[in-house]
Amino acid sequence: MIFILTLDYMDGRRNIDISFLNEIEAKKKKELEHEIKLATKTDYHKSKMEHYNVQELRKDNIEKKICKDLIDAMNQSLLDLRLKKFADSFAITSDDIHLLDNEAYETSFTAYEELDGIPKAYAEYSNVYINHDQFQSYSEFAFVVAHELSHCCAYTKLETEVDNEGSNQTNLAQEGVMHEINFWGMNEAVTEMLARRIRVEFNKRNKQISFSNKKKLESERIYERVILPVEAIIRQMSSSQKEEKLLTDELLSNHITGDNSFLKKAELKIPGVTQVLSVMGITYESTLEAAEKLGFQDVAEEIKRIRLIKPDSEETSEKKSES
Ligand SMILES: [Zn+2]
Repeated sequence: MIFILTLDYMDGRRNIDISFLNEIEAKKKKELEHEIKLATKTDYHKSKMEHYNVQELRKDNIEKKICKDLIDAMNQSLLDLRLKKFADSFAITSDDIHLLDNEAYETSFTAYEELDGIPKAYAEYSNVYINHDQFQSYSEFAFVVAHELSHCCAYTKLETEVDNEGSNQTNLAQEGVMHEINFWGMNEAVTEMLARRIRVEFNKRNKQISFSNKKKLESERIYERVILPVEAIIRQMSSSQKEEKLLTDELLSNHITGDNSFLKKAELKIPGVTQVLSVMGITYESTLEAAEKLGFQDVAEEIKRIRLIKPDSEETSEKKSES
């Protein structure tokens, strides 16, 4: 079986000299990455379900509608960022959002997204997997799926064919670079910033979610602690609100196109900032350290304040949560 591997854009390749990755990038950038993904993501999902011998659950009508509206909202968010090409070619459909019961989920996953310590969802090779038993409401479901869809929008930064054995190169890229070394927290921050835009767009479309839940969808954020330093960096780089908006758009666009223009600009304005971001994870400890290193005392205080309200998230996130 041949899989196409896709990774989020903000991993270490931009800072670490791994020449084979650069070669692949140069070659692939010219090609239609999203078409390649389309051809393989379904195969990936099927073989995964077979491998673990689990079945996915059927979506009810409201869940179907939520998934459809979220995908429309995601495409609109890409259009708003002037990324028509990506909106057109982005190949996720409702069928790529899979619901599993708790047992199937726990069986087939070793790493997953958590919210307040509860494992709920995961995005992998353009498939979204949801632990259906963990959801209390449709709005919570929509909230988390928006985040995972945002991961799926990320630049397919490395695409290479591997056989069943895999190759050392691929393993290095997948495990070493992405999750442990570089830009983990940054990646989650940008993912969630885009997810909020998707939720705002979703609210314009979906009629099933109540008004008060819609408000929550737009005001709450996963990984708030990680987003705070990133937003502070944007503010420091900006001399007006308009500039702030443009820089935020640029950062979100980078997430999708794979460009690193935002990081380059940030480094010029705030020397050393990319180094700090590259090692920032998603724990309180790690985000606090980043805020302090960058001299953002107000952000550091805010992170401490959130930590007091939600002390449990840190520990569980550190152990398991990723992407
Ligand atoms: Zn995530």
